[in-house]
Amino acid sequence: MSDVNVITVIGAGTMGSGIAITAAMAGVEVCQVDVDQAQLDRAKAYHAKTLSRNVEKERMTPAEADEATARICYCTDHARAGDSAFAIEAATENEALKKTIFGQMVDTYSDDCVLATNTSSISITSIGDSVEAARDRVIGMHFFNPVPVMKLVEVIVSPATSDDVKARTIALSERMGKTPIAANDFPGFVSNRVLMPMINEAFHAWNDGVADPESIDGIMKLGCAFPMGPLRLADLIGLDVCRDIMLVLHEGLGHPEKYAPCTKLVELVEAGHLGNKTGRGVYDYS
Ligand code: NAD
Repeated sequence: MSDVNVITVIGAGTMGSGIAITAAMAGVEVCQVDVDQAQLDRAKAYHAKTLSRNVEKERMTPAEADEATARICYCTDHARAGDSAFAIEAATENEALKKTIFGQMVDTYSDDCVLATNTSSISITSIGDSVEAARDRVIGMHFFNPVPVMKLVEVIVSPATSDDVKARTIALSERMGKTPIAANDFPGFVSNRVLMPMINEAFHAWNDGVADPESIDGIMKLGCAFPMGPLRLADLIGLDVCRDIMLVLHEGLGHPEKYAPCTKLVELVEAGHLGNKTGRGVYDYS
């Protein structure tokens, strides 16, 4: 199995920008693609900040930071990405959009390119079916936020994913300093099937007046040894992302009493309070 030298990361938001800098720091050349130039500019600024923080903390030398910077190119289309051995899609969590992007990936990249998605909840089988002839190259490569820090990559295989593509995904994850763990393609995979109902239940506890958000988070943090409480984590993930994942669990698994998103969560999303990224969610960050 040859080493991957060039990858493309499609989407330069929270996750895509984190995946790109993590790969660049591991010595991989990255083409960071986004349709929105402002998002590419934000990603570039985030990359510069991440690298300078690493230099300050003596985790890397200034020369190594410069080399990592030089490994990333920023593009509003796929034109410079043709040599990629790996394309990781990390665009907005919308099934129709992802299927369109996968169609472009099949048309753009070599017949050998691994077509990975960072989706939190959309069926890998369904994305694979949309690019029928290439479905054996479609795989879930689910990174966690913030990507440079979090160790796990949840590798999700559909029944059509080839063993070679799975092995190459595990190899790239390890090269990026991550620990890959494989799961099968079910709604929410493992991580969100277990995590999101807990977050949703924290909204129910708040809604029912069991305690205020600080107390709910404090109890779960200290009582369960979590690094942060579920409501604070929901703000970090994005309340819209949390609602959408609950909807996927609800539609995919049934049990409305178990998986329907809590009205409190839905109300905040509808008010535009999406968490850290909008400056307000459960908590006010202004
Ligand atoms: P985000 O909103 O921060 O970024 C999405 C980016 O996709 C935006 O920059 C947008 O301009 C870009 N985009 C939209 N259409 C595009 C297209 N056609 N081509 C290229 N780029 C396009 O979202 P995010 O939080 O980074 O999430 C991205 C993916 O990662 C989603 O599938 C999400 O479910 C998943 N995910 C998110 C988290 C999290 O904590 N936020 C964790 C794990 C996985």
